[in-house]
Parts: sequence; structure tokens; C-alpha cells
Amino acid sequence: TVYTPSPTRYDGMTYNHAGASGLKLPAVSLGFWHNFGDITPYDTMRQIVFTAFDNGVTHFDLANNYGPEPGSAEKNCGRLLREYFHHHRAELIISTKAGYEMWLGPYGDLGSRKYLLASLDQSLERLGLDYVDIFYHHHMDPQTPLEETMGALATAVNSGKALYVGLSNYDGPTLSKATAILDELHVPFIINQNRYNIFDRTVERNGLKETAHRLGKGLITFSPLAQGLLTDRYLNGVPADSRIAHDGRFLQESALTATTLRQIRDLNDLAAERGQTLAEMALAWLLHDGMVTSVLVGASRPQQLLDNIGALGNTTFTDEELLRIDEISSR
Ligand code: NDP
Repeated sequence: TVYTPSPTRYDGMTYNHAGASGLKLPAVSLGFWHNFGDITPYDTMRQIVFTAFDNGVTHFDLANNYGPEPGSAEKNCGRLLREYFHHHRAELIISTKAGYEMWLGPYGDLGSRKYLLASLDQSLERLGLDYVDIFYHHHMDPQTPLEETMGALATAVNSGKALYVGLSNYDGPTLSKATAILDELHVPFIINQNRYNIFDRTVERNGLKETAHRLGKGLITFSPLAQGLLTDRYLNGVPADSRIAHDGRFLQESALTATTLRQIRDLNDLAAERGQTLAEMALAWLLHDGMVTSVLVGASRPQQLLDNIGALGNTTFTDEELLRIDEISSR
């Protein structure tokens, strides 16, 4: 297959600065957590990334451990980049992370300098890249001094292996401390990656959202569709090709309680009143106040990604709509 990207690929996408930095990210980014491991046909992955790039989704998000097997998402991404995007490296923002367990023994997880720098080298090898655009620490590690972890991120940048750094799953107070250290080290720390969706408001409660905004750091939100719950996927049972049915590592049928299903139906009704799909409304809701740089979606087929980009058509809400969303989701 020869891939010729659409010449109009930049026409329909919105690009937002990651905080006060110069780097712009597409308002919708594509994650490789699911659907890019060795249980997904290569042709499916290829169709998803072609659709992404053809529609201005310039950011692909990975981590060392994405699979299954851990590492296979980076390996498959590397193959896609080599085979189809060789001439487009400068048009792409590729991120990866280290923090969760990647290999056995005391140096294969958490936040040590030893682990982070070894993991980044392995990620670059799997991806077939000289550098990633963003390197993240994947989660807070209270066992390691913050100075050590931030120092490792600084080394990643100074060695030319990462252009920018990010923090994932941090809270407001730890973000503040980390920022002070990274500023002192002159590290281009530009973005936070956290779970945020209509059902999960943790970043509003733990200070992350407010602190990131105040410090001029970006926020890219993962599982913005609550892994598919905030779509029409489960309105009428569990489809055989859904995440719950075919890859329920992190989303099980037990999530579909009577209360949750009622919430999904009521949110779906509200979305319909707005002339949106539930997926579109859920993403628009995240973008409506201008504090989220990008919504980081997953997709198991190209059409889902197109639906999700459709959210950009209307990101405005009335106060009454916002109250209704809060009321439904807090039941
Ligand atoms: P989402 O909440 O967007 O869920 C994606 C899933 O929802 C899809 O795989 C698909 O599931 C379903 N879906 C997506 N769009 C639609 C649509 N329009 N209509 C119907 N169903 C739809 O995000 P993820 O949970 O996949 O997370 C996204 C990314 O965030 C990850 O790939 C990763 O990059 C990042 N992430 C980061 C974490 C961190 O700790 N930093 C943790 C988790 C994720 P189906 O298979 O059923 O079709």
C-alpha cells in the first residue's frame, strides 16, 4: 500500500497550544492503549491511523507498556511510521511514557532515573525513532524523590531523546512541586495527562485542572469517553466487538450497573436534544471551558474517530445543559 495523505488534512481540525508553550496539539488526539497490540489486525490499525492523519489528528499517544503484549503498541506504531509516515515525521507528535511495570526486577517500574532512562531507550528502539516529542512520567511515585524523577526527564530532553516532557496522573500539589523543580532545570514541561470525563471528575477535586491552568501547563484528557461508556456502544447490551466483550482488561461488564445505564440513556437523550451523538457531547463537554488542550480518544475503527472529531462542530453549552449533565452524572 502506498499512502498519500489527504491534501486537505489540516482544514477541519482545531489546534490548541499546550498551556503557555509553543506546541499546538489537535483538539482530538489518538491513543494507542487499546487496538494497537498484537490482538488487533495490522490492517485495522493502518486504517485508523490513516483516517487520523487525513483529518488533522497529528498526535499519537503511546506508553512503554501498551499492548498486549507490553511493548507491542510501540512496535506496531514503529512499523506504521516506517512504512507510511517516513516523510511526515515532522508533522507528527509522538508521545510515550514510563512509570508502570515494564520488565521484571527492581528497575522495571516506578520513578527511578535508572528505570526512566532505560525505558525511554527501549521505547525509541521499538518505535524506530531518534526522539519522541513528549516523554511522560506515567504516575506519581512517592517512593522516589521528585528531584530524581524530574532530573531523569531533564536528561531525556538534554540528550535529545525527547523534545518536551509531561506528567501523567499527578495531582495539583505534586504538580506544583514538580513544576518548581523542572523550571529550575529549564526543562520544557508543557502538559499533564489525566483521566477526565463526565463520569470522572477527579481532576476537579484534586487541584490538577486548576493548578495546570494557573501554571500555564496543558491538559490532555484520557478515557474522555469513559472507555466507551459515554457513547451509544452499550445502550442495548454488550456488542461482541466492544471493548467489554473482546478486551475487558480494564473495562468489565460489571461497570454497566442499572444506575450507570440510566445515566448513559439520560445523557444520550440530552445529546440528541443538542443534535449530537453522546460521544460528541461527552467530548464537547470536556472542551467547552477552554481548559483542556486535547481530548485523547481511543478508536477501534475509523468511523469512531470521525464521529469524535465531529464533536468540534459544537462545544458550546447552556448553563441549564451543564447543570443537567452534573445532575445526571452525580446520581
Ligand atoms: P476512550 O474513553 O475514548 O474510549 C475509547 C473506546 O470507546 C474505543 O476503543 C471504542 O471502544 C469506544 N469508542 C470510541 N469512540 C466511539 C464512538 N464515536 N462511538 C462509539 N464508541 C466509541 O479512551 P481510552 O480509554 O481508549 O483512552 C484513550 C487513550 O488515553 C489511550 O489510548 C491512551 O493513549 C490514553 N490513556 C492514558 C492513561 C494514562 O495513565 N496516562 C490511561 C488510559 C488511557 P470499542 O472497542 O468498544 O469500539
